Amino acid sequence: MIKSITGTKDILPADIAKWQYLEELLRETFRLFNYKEIRTPVFEETALFIRGIGEETDIVGKEMYTFKDRSETSLTLKPEMTAPVVRSYIEHSLGAQQPLTKLFYISPMFRQERPQAGRLRQFNQFGAEAIGSRSPLLDTEMIQLAYGILKSLGLNNLTVKINSLGTPETRETYKKLLKNYLEDKKSLLSEDSRRRFDTNILRIFDSKIESDQTIIKDAPKLIEHLDDESKQDFEVVKNQLSKAGIPFQIDTALVRGLDYYTKLTFEIDSGSVGAQTALCGGGRYDLLIETLGGKAAPATGFAAGIERILLACENEKSLNIPDQSIDVYLIRVDSGLEDKIAEFASVLRTQNISCDYDYLNRSVKAQMREANKMNTKYVLFVGGDEYKKELLKLKDMSSGVEEIIALSEFNTLYAKLK
Ligand code: AMP
Repeated sequence: MIKSITGTKDILPADIAKWQYLEELLRETFRLFNYKEIRTPVFEETALFIRGIGEETDIVGKEMYTFKDRSETSLTLKPEMTAPVVRSYIEHSLGAQQPLTKLFYISPMFRQERPQAGRLRQFNQFGAEAIGSRSPLLDTEMIQLAYGILKSLGLNNLTVKINSLGTPETRETYKKLLKNYLEDKKSLLSEDSRRRFDTNILRIFDSKIESDQTIIKDAPKLIEHLDDESKQDFEVVKNQLSKAGIPFQIDTALVRGLDYYTKLTFEIDSGSVGAQTALCGGGRYDLLIETLGGKAAPATGFAAGIERILLACENEKSLNIPDQSIDVYLIRVDSGLEDKIAEFASVLRTQNISCDYDYLNRSVKAQMREANKMNTKYVLFVGGDEYKKELLKLKDMSSGVEEIIALSEFNTLYAKLK
């Protein structure tokens, strides 16, 4: 038997209500903040991600699903959305149509990671990108969006972490400071961190190894060496978050090792999902558009993992979504009425009333069992003595109240059943 691939998951009908609820909440929230949806292809030229995410990152270094198609072009299944969104923004000159472009997406992503709880190889993210403004109010907006969505899902065990990376110039100066500090401790670092010392020193902060953490803990902090503009912007973010009632912590180890990331970075963690605590991450990337060949434009954004968020909801029992039910189930009391029932169902469906009936020639008792299982709001009995007198019996399944309807007044059912 062929099974699904490790690290991928079917979203089964029993779980779909949660997904649809979340997707509706997302669309409504993004509408309130005036973000428009963008959908990009599942695969892109590999070069986009190498340039857009960076060769030194885990994603590009070890996690991408890359393959050659029949024309020998190297393609990659998208591991994240910022690079595709920026590619599309440049390709279609979206910035020429409006000075600030606010976009959101909901899309599957692909990374060849070691699967575990909250870590999949195909997973779904939603996120936003705002391209065209350097205002720190937009950075705050990203946190408000993400935090607001998580709170609306009833999640409580949340930690918002923020940091500032300054401008690339500030960072260059800081990297020298860090290098000086680590120089004589280099031999004590893990192999990965020793390599990063030469290739991308900031990423040593990402190391999960305890001995690395001990060494890096006392290193000079980037946040204490910020340029004036980054400092002011960071103050604006902090003030706005406080005004919005969003609690936050400053986490100086929250770095993104690439040069086009600037100023604010943030992450929202949950204490309810096990080892993989990050529900969402984001920040400012003022230099990426130019790096990908566009006209320089400041930008900020975030991405959040849907599976991990739903896992947190499950663990906190925060979502209580009733099963979707139909409006009415038609029950065939006598045989020979199959065509008539199909006809009634067609009419009801054209009136936007969801309905279903038995296609398996089952007994009345079995049809009733099915109606109960479906959690239908009403049952309409077709047949028996009533039908001979051109009447139908309608039962309200929650109150148990029954009512007789004349066939000639079938249309009075429409208002009742909705
Ligand atoms: P990133 O794009 O790495 O900043 O990730 C943003 C969010 O996507 C994370 O906070 C997770 O919630 C989610 N995420 C990232 N990688 C995975 C994965 N392999 N499986 C499930 N969710 C993931």
